[in-house]
Amino acid sequence: MKVTFLGTNGWYDTLTGNTCSILIQTKEFDVILDAGNGLAKADQYITQEKPAYLFISHFHIDHIVGLHTLVKFRFPKGLVICGQPGTSGVLNTFVAEPFTVPFAHLPFPVRFLELDEGEHAVPFPVEARQLVHPVPCFGYRLSLDGKVITYCTDTGYCTNAVLLGRNSDLLITECGLKSGQESPGWPHLNPESAIQIGKEAQAKRLALTHFGAEVYRSYDDRAEVQAKFQEAYPGLIVATDDLTIEI
Ligand SMILES: [Zn+2]
Ligand SMILES: [Zn+2]
Repeated sequence: MKVTFLGTNGWYDTLTGNTCSILIQTKEFDVILDAGNGLAKADQYITQEKPAYLFISHFHIDHIVGLHTLVKFRFPKGLVICGQPGTSGVLNTFVAEPFTVPFAHLPFPVRFLELDEGEHAVPFPVEARQLVHPVPCFGYRLSLDGKVITYCTDTGYCTNAVLLGRNSDLLITECGLKSGQESPGWPHLNPESAIQIGKEAQAKRLALTHFGAEVYRSYDDRAEVQAKFQEAYPGLIVATDDLTIEI
């Protein structure tokens, strides 16, 4: 199973990356996590012939702005958009005239699947839990091809992130803040708090993404995280756009 980081920035695009989106290529499905501007690159990696699933963590624009590029995709087997209760209403307001082509006019069928907190089969097993953010935000634990991939952005440290990440083969968390930075009024993770979640969850691998655009202004800033923390978390992945890893 391949995991490709299409966009690895938080908040806005810079020369270091597009906003958040991750592609998971499984045997049966193409699964996309969030729809920042990185989403527009997905067609470089997939034939689009498999059923496609898109999970939306929350509605901050860096996680949905790429939806206006959906019109270039074809997805002959359709796209299922999964998210917290209310997802259909919010996204049908955002992906609409006069802003962009509405879902109903896309060249493929779109279906919404609103998930309550808890476990679901969509058809593959998914567990959703609320994270800690100024607006409701879901983390997801996905069981795909016999492996578990957990995605927790945007959030501060919280028990739900640890529960979702338990024994994951790959835990993907955000890293909006630099080492030692705190942001109690608008929770995000720094490398230390992301690693704390990964260790408490006993995740086999930890990948950091969603690097704050104002905070991590260059690749060197990300490389510092890799150098400083790779011993603390062996196999630590500090994502950059278009990085593909095999799980
Ligand atoms: Zn964000
Ligand atoms: Zn956010």
